Amino acid sequence: KKKIAVMTSGGDSQGMSGAVRAVVRQTIASGCIAYAVYEGYEGLVQGGDLIKRMQWEDVRGWLSEGGTLIGTARCMAFMERPGRLTAANNMVEKGIDALIICGGDGSLTGADKFRAEWPSLIDELVTTGKRTKEEVKQFKHLNIVGLVGSIDNDLSGTDATIGCYSSLQRICQAIDYIDATALSHQRAFVIEVMGRHCGWLALMAGVSCGADFVFLPENPPSENWEEEMCSIISKHRKLGKRKTIVIVAEGAHDRQLTHISPDMVKDLLSNRLHLDTRVTTLGHVQRGGTACAYDRMLATLQGVEAVKAVLEATPETPSPVICIVENKIVRKNLMEAVKMTKEVAAQIAAKDFAAAMAGRDAEFAE
Ligand code: ADP
Repeated sequence: KKKIAVMTSGGDSQGMSGAVRAVVRQTIASGCIAYAVYEGYEGLVQGGDLIKRMQWEDVRGWLSEGGTLIGTARCMAFMERPGRLTAANNMVEKGIDALIICGGDGSLTGADKFRAEWPSLIDELVTTGKRTKEEVKQFKHLNIVGLVGSIDNDLSGTDATIGCYSSLQRICQAIDYIDATALSHQRAFVIEVMGRHCGWLALMAGVSCGADFVFLPENPPSENWEEEMCSIISKHRKLGKRKTIVIVAEGAHDRQLTHISPDMVKDLLSNRLHLDTRVTTLGHVQRGGTACAYDRMLATLQGVEAVKAVLEATPETPSPVICIVENKIVRKNLMEAVKMTKEVAAQIAAKDFAAAMAGRDAEFAE
């Protein structure tokens, strides 16, 4: 019976547990044996109890859970070949040669590297006497399939990542709470939301909450942004709006690209417009709570598709990543999606914002 392992890696997001549930159950339903690797690549390197056989009932109730119930970690050892060699040995020991990873672009890059290196890792296990030729006979290829778990919606090639809509929902709820008090006192709030390289959360929160102004890493403010923002906000106030909401994506100041910090915006609103202004950093609330309906659906459909992709893979098939494009679950080339994502991040760093915006929407061959 084929053994398929699932793991979550990198930053957590709502819906990751739902994805694990879908993979485990689809694996069992397909007549295969399911494993979960706990604590991300750390579990793969440490092996033992961190690579656990999973039964149908082990994932009961996981669909609605936030975060990841099998844990996630950042693992330095896996960045180096000796760590990956130990990981390969642990997989051979358990008889696993297929791995479904739910994570961000870093985790998916590591996975594809592992797959590319796999034949040489297996050879090394034999030449160093850790495994016999007989033991590794069936481990010629490693099958890798990616699922994208991220609150930032920052992977090129897919319309939504698992977690982004739950996080957006959380931001909207928080801003609704703030709205109530802002309205009462006619205050202005500058709200910092997550998203280092990608302003999707900030932009969609702006649209969904009717914010007055939004700062994104992809779209730097103009030279005269101060006048622009103040005149828009004054206009809104003159129209009778009793509150002001300005959203700043973490990446708009964190990466020193646009140098817009929430405090700068606050000072401007206080000093120039004489608004009673407060700064609220939403922080990890955005990663918390249960998965919204969309993320439960996405995690389930994509988890099922990931298992199908494993079972249909040949040694020649490049590693796929499971995406959603115009409401259809599709497989795309994992490394192309990662490459495009990195190109967009580089374009933002180089302040080539037009190219970055085009890259975000870009389609590419499967
Ligand atoms: P994310 O998956 O959210 O982008 P990271 O970039 O932190 O998060 O990656 C998570 C983990 O994936 C890292 O701690 C490391 O163990 C592994 N990883 C990331 N990049 C690589 C790489 N180039 N080679 C091997 N492993 C990697």
